[in-house]
Order: sequence, then C-alpha cells, then structure tokens
Amino acid sequence: MIPANHFGAIMNKNSAHGARDIRVAVIGAGMSGILTGIRLLEAGIRNFVIYEKAATLGGTWRENSYPGLSCDVPSHHYVYTFEPNPEWSHMFSPGPEIRAYFERAADKYGVAPYIRYNKQVVAAEFGDDRWHLKFADGSEDDATVVIAATGVLHHPVYPDIEGLGRFAGPCFHSARWDHSVSLEGKRVGIIGTGSTAIQIVTGLVDKVAHLDLFQRTAQWVLPYPNEPYSEEQKAEFRANPDKMTEMFWHMAEQFNSSFARAVIGDQTQMARIEQRCRMNLEHNVHDPELRRKLTPDYKVACKRLIMSDTFYAAIQRPNAALVTAGIERIEAKGVRTRDGVLHELDALVLATGFDGHRFMRDINISGQDGLKLNDAWSQSLEAYRCLAVPRFPNFFMLIGPNSPIGNFSLILIAEMQVDYILKLIARIRAGECRALAPSVEATQYFNAALREAMKDTVWVSGCRSWYLDTNGTPVTWPWSFERFKDDMREPQWAEYELLA
Ligand code: NAP
Repeated sequence: MIPANHFGAIMNKNSAHGARDIRVAVIGAGMSGILTGIRLLEAGIRNFVIYEKAATLGGTWRENSYPGLSCDVPSHHYVYTFEPNPEWSHMFSPGPEIRAYFERAADKYGVAPYIRYNKQVVAAEFGDDRWHLKFADGSEDDATVVIAATGVLHHPVYPDIEGLGRFAGPCFHSARWDHSVSLEGKRVGIIGTGSTAIQIVTGLVDKVAHLDLFQRTAQWVLPYPNEPYSEEQKAEFRANPDKMTEMFWHMAEQFNSSFARAVIGDQTQMARIEQRCRMNLEHNVHDPELRRKLTPDYKVACKRLIMSDTFYAAIQRPNAALVTAGIERIEAKGVRTRDGVLHELDALVLATGFDGHRFMRDINISGQDGLKLNDAWSQSLEAYRCLAVPRFPNFFMLIGPNSPIGNFSLILIAEMQVDYILKLIARIRAGECRALAPSVEATQYFNAALREAMKDTVWVSGCRSWYLDTNGTPVTWPWSFERFKDDMREPQWAEYELLA
C-alpha cells in the first residue's frame, strides 16, 4: 500500500465550497450506462444525460445479432443484482432476451427518458472546471462529470488477409451481421474460432448447405449444458425472488472460487478445469485426426475459454469442415488455403474479434493543460484502479483498462465501479472540491503492482489473445474477486488530487 500520509499535501489543498448542482454526462447506453443512470437517480441526481451514438440502447447486445448468439455466463448471474429476472428461458439465454432485459430495466428504473440517441461524442475537453463535449452532429454540451460507459468489445477487428475485398459474395463481421442476406442452403465460411465463431457454428450448421470453419488456433472448450427453465421453475422464481438472489450469489461464489482463482495462478483449480476440457475433447470428438486438430498447444484459459456443449457436435456434422491449412488469400469465389485448395463459398463471416484496447479513444479527450488521453496512453493503458486517469479530472470509466473482464461477472464489476464513482461524485457535489483526479504517483504505483502480479497469471503463459496489449501485457485483473471488492469499497482519498 501507499503510505497513508503520502499525499497529505495534496489533500490540504481541499477547501469547502458548499453544495452544488452538478451535471453528469454518461457516454453509452449499454449495460453499464443504463446502470449508471439507475444509480444517479437513486442518488437524487437528475441533472444528467446519457449520450448514445446509435439509435437504440443495449451496447454489445445491440451490436451483436448473429445466429446462435447467447451469453455463456448463466442468465441468473448475468443480471443487475437488484433486478433478478424470473423469465429467463434457459440457463444461458439467447441474445435477444438479454437485450430485452436491459430495455426493460431502462424503462422500469426511469432511465430511458435521459437517453439521447444518435448523439456521438467526438470530443471532450476539460477547462474551467467543466467538460466541454462536442458531437458528430455539430452540437455541444457541458458537464461537471463525464462517465465513459463505452464498453470493451466494441470495435470490430477486420483481418489483414490478402484479397479480402475481392470476395464476390456477401462478407461481413460477426458484429455487423447482414440480416438481408439469407444463408439458408448456402456454402458459408467462418474465419475465427473465438467464443463468437463457436456460437455461430452451432447457430448456422443446420441451416446452411456447407460450413467451413477456418481455424488459425485451436481453442479449449469447457462443456456446459444449456437447459431450458420449465414454466414451473419460472413460476417459482416469480413467487420467490429471493431464490434468484440466492442463485446469483451462489454462482458468484462458485465461479470466484474456481475459474477466477485458476486464471490468476491457482494450479489446483486450473488442473480441474483442464481435465474437464480434455475429457470433453476425448469423449465428444470421435475422429482422432479431428481431435488432434482441435487440441490446443497452450494452457487452458490462456485465451478466453470457450463454454459450449454444442460446438463439437456441430463441427462433426457431415456438412461442416474444420479447415486448418491456413489462409493464403481470399479470392472472388472463396478462400484459398496454403495447401492450394480453393474453398468455394457463397458468403463469408469474419468472426475475427474486437480491439479490446481502443475503449473510448476515438473521442478526442483532453484533460488538464490540454493533455490528450491518447498521448497519456501512448505507451500503455495506465488507469487508476481501472476507472480514472491522472490529469483527467472528473472523468471516470466503467470497465476501463484492467477491469476484471476475464475473471468475474462484468455486471457485478460495473455495479461496484459505479458505486465507487458515486462516492467520488458525492464529494464534488458536496462542494468539497471542484474536481478530482487520481495522482500520478498512485496510478504508477497501482500499475507497477498490476504488472508484477500479471507474472503469475495464465494470460502470460504463451498464447495470442485480445487480453494482451502491444507490449504483451494482459489488460485485465491479476488478483482475486475479494481484492477487487476491497479496492472498490471506499475511495482511497489520499491517492486523489482534489482541485479546490
Ligand atoms: P476473439 O476471441 O478475439 O477471436 C477472434 C478469432 O479470429 C480467433 O480465433 C483468431 O485467431 C481469429 N483471427 C483473427 N484474425 C485472423 C486472421 N487474420 N486470420 C485467421 N484467423 C484470424 O473474438 P470473438 O470470438 O469475437 O470473442 C471476443 C470476446 O468476446 C470473447 O473472448 C469474449 O470475451 C466475448 N464474447 C463473449 C460471449 C459470451 O457468450 N459471453 C460470446 C462471444 C464473445 P487466433 O486465435 O489465432 O488469434
């Protein structure tokens, strides 16, 4: 820990100004933006607005609409803690149900009227103790506090493959699904074998004439059955909401004490998960050659672990093929692999992932003395406890750099972060300071500790993944759930600079 009196001099700059009305601008109306709106209203803050660049809300659940879309986190755990949902159809419910859940929450908690659609923030500049926002439509706004709730997996990555533009048929990224194209009875190629591609394979295989899955790297797959909830079970949930809350915390406990520990170095937990993945391959992939091709050469969970009990069956269907020869180039008629074979296709899906390090950096953000966020982050994405940046006063992030995206429930994380940020805001609102930002020293200290702890995690054990930044450092959380909870319990005031 940083010595208690380390920033005493900074704290002394603080002086009382009396309570003040503040205006909060939230960027993004996905899971965490809606949550922020709910919490702001609960805190009695009505002078806020949620700017959403698209025409509807839902974030990742709006952007992704591919066949087979679901969430591989159990539905009763993929909820706001205060809003259980008795209507989930399955253990892992499909994407449209999840999107509808967030739409209902925005309505039920009175957040919907605060959302301004088709308002893309293009610049945010701090000056005169306020943030000056500019929008793509030329309009402007001011706010005391900005909260970026812009998500992580938001910017599609298009593969750098020769000839991509030459393909004659429809070709689109998984997060830009073209629903005007019917794939019924067609020959479809899918590039990529991440969580997205694996869900698409299951969702498409029965509809298409032929499916080619182009694999560059094999994936570990943990099998999880996806049972539907019966009407009796749903009625029981409706009658007894506490049961859902109990389930939520039971799942949290189970997950946080197993997977979340395994990824940060608990070898006993990791061995259990690895054994389940190996048995899944052994029992469910019958052809030894296919099994060999599907066997990864890196540690389980080094890449984001796939959860599926349908993928192996789907890829063994007679109309499906796993192509591992490596892509040479894309031609008008299909994909040419390095063994010289042309895989003729009618449509091509790019399930090639996202730039998980771009965050809200397309917005031109300048803090104190005109410092650009992109300059501050030119070497590495250094944030203070995942949610603030030195010299960017009153600017906070949800699911910012190093948030536990690969560890535990994202919704729970966002809830803890919002509650923490509201404590910072309370101080500004009380007039104890005009603005606040974490100190450079505290941020450096936090990031040095992060880097040190990363050495024990599975993400650095030797694989390529979107968790790694350009320096090869994972941008996720190397500690336990309990540590995150402790960190978010109360702001460590000595680590902030308060502008009087
Ligand atoms: P991803 O995990 O980054 O996978 C991208 C895939 O594309 C990889 O298999 C990658 O191969 C391949 N690829 C990229 N460029 C390529 C190229 N030039 N040539 C050949 N192959 C190429 O992306 P994703 O599947 O969209 O998943 C991203 C994240 O979204 C997941 O990790 C997960 O966190 C989240 N997600 C969650 C759910 C859920 O149910 N909760 C569902 C979907 C996604 P390499 O492995 O060789 O790099």
